[in-house]
Amino acid sequence: MQTELSIEFFPPQTPEGAAKLQAERARLAELKPTFFSVTYGAGGSTQARTFATVKEIAAEGHQAAPHLSCIGSTKAGMRDILAYFKAEGIRRIVALRGDLPSGMADPGELRYANELVEFIRAETGDWFHLEVAAYPEWHPQARSPRDDLQNFARKVQAGADSAITQYFYNADAYFHFVDEARALGVEIPIVPGIMPIGSFSKLARFSDACGADIPRWMRKKFESYGDDADSIRAFGLDVVTELCQRLLAGGAPGLHFYSMNQAGLTTEIWRRLQG
Ligand code: FAD
Repeated sequence: MQTELSIEFFPPQTPEGAAKLQAERARLAELKPTFFSVTYGAGGSTQARTFATVKEIAAEGHQAAPHLSCIGSTKAGMRDILAYFKAEGIRRIVALRGDLPSGMADPGELRYANELVEFIRAETGDWFHLEVAAYPEWHPQARSPRDDLQNFARKVQAGADSAITQYFYNADAYFHFVDEARALGVEIPIVPGIMPIGSFSKLARFSDACGADIPRWMRKKFESYGDDADSIRAFGLDVVTELCQRLLAGGAPGLHFYSMNQAGLTTEIWRRLQG
């Protein structure tokens, strides 16, 4: 099966975390992903660690894509970061608005991701392949689905090359989103973001915050397993693999895995997809 694969990490906080990530990454590299991406903390809070992780990935010979969020920043600051990425030979960025950290009131000079995309294009032309975020179940702050879709289209008009979605467990939401985006004239690839499920309670908390829906039938089943980690893992692998199969059969151009810095679940799902 020929499917584009990309895998996301968060920047580790400790030298032990960095060593562990290096080992997990070596396992994930065997899946031959197109790129590894590295998240960027709100307001630049992880900047040094994101850059260090990206540098390590590039030094290992893989394509590294830093995430970059613009809210709360200045154009001069963004210009410096772009110059740094260019000097490091980085060719792909996941361009985001991000969320303003609590206590920070000033949204800065670039308030939405479409403004960041426009800025990067104006500053660096076609140097970077720009990924943007998409929300098949709608961004939690969106005024309406229609408004959110139009805001997504603005990022594409500003020069995004492809999109990665927030994770979801309802394939129909993705297909509906893609159809609606196509009807608005959006032609770029929209790659589903896939969140493997290792622990349910953590996922449930996180999903509430980012607006991803866990369907009732799945939630009930996970809850019924209580502390039985093996059953949670087995059921999680089955549902996420089936989701990926449906997405690919329905025309999804690839898969982007939120690995949570762990190779196991992503590797197992990928192995099953090849089978
Ligand atoms: P935008 O596209 O700017 O949209 C944000 C909201 O504003 C939406 O409700 C939209 O409808 C609205 N909007 C957009 N443009 C306009 C406009 N011009 N005028 C009025 N309203 C507008 N967060 C991090 O902190 N670090 C990361 O590394 C990170 N990586 C991510 C990777 C992916 C693939 C995804 C899906 C999300 C990621 N996030 C990350 C989370 C993301 O930062 C948040 O969801 C954030 O709230 C929105 O960022 P965005 O780029 O989607 O914003």
